[in-house]
Amino acid sequence: MAGPIIGIVCMDDHPQLDKHAPRFGQNQSYIHAVARAGAAPLLIPLLAGEAPLRSLYDRIDGLLLPGGEDVHPNQYGEPVHDKCGKISDLRDEVELALIRWAMADHKPLLAICRGIQVLNVALGGSLYQDIQAQVPGAGRHNCHDSHARNQAAHDVAVVPDSRLAYLVGTELLPVNSFHHQAVKEVAAGLTVAARATDGIIEAVEGEGRPFVLGVQWHPEEMAEEDSRAQRLFDALAEASGR
Ligand code: MN
Repeated sequence: MAGPIIGIVCMDDHPQLDKHAPRFGQNQSYIHAVARAGAAPLLIPLLAGEAPLRSLYDRIDGLLLPGGEDVHPNQYGEPVHDKCGKISDLRDEVELALIRWAMADHKPLLAICRGIQVLNVALGGSLYQDIQAQVPGAGRHNCHDSHARNQAAHDVAVVPDSRLAYLVGTELLPVNSFHHQAVKEVAAGLTVAARATDGIIEAVEGEGRPFVLGVQWHPEEMAEEDSRAQRLFDALAEASGR
């Protein structure tokens, strides 16, 4: 039997920062993690307007929302903070549509880094626009310059009896950390599944859904050597194959 097709949203390109022609693409680590899970990765370009995007959406069995730019604070009713990073209105538009369709259809969904943030916003939650500026006493989560992509930066405490706890089989999980924003108010329909030791929300999951999981870390970068990271992709593929 053919494996399920997992849609992976492309990153926005910033041709203004580079001389190359605008491209759509995504980090290979996501693609390899999905393929290792026995699923077929399908890159979803950032197509504005509903019809072509909907055609792609209709062909996927599950959805993976990767890391990337900050969500526009307008989407959760806040003005843009000084420390808010790069924004892509196009990616917001595409991902918000895909998430709403997937939730309506109960299509399985794994949301990583920006993914957990845009998932939370799509369902009515809000974000810290900059952890350092807005959460006194928080630890360091923006470890781009200090840590390798597959290097753990802090622990997360996994909520016992959560879907995540079942998947990773441990209550304290070391994770990498490449984010400066985080979930603030958790959207209705989502519950917290893990927090960093400083209290920052690091995972949420859907209530009574087939498979809706958001994580703030980057399991795709650790999945080759750490089965606890690969298991998230295995679970997405499994849920998408039903
Ligand atoms: Mn973190």
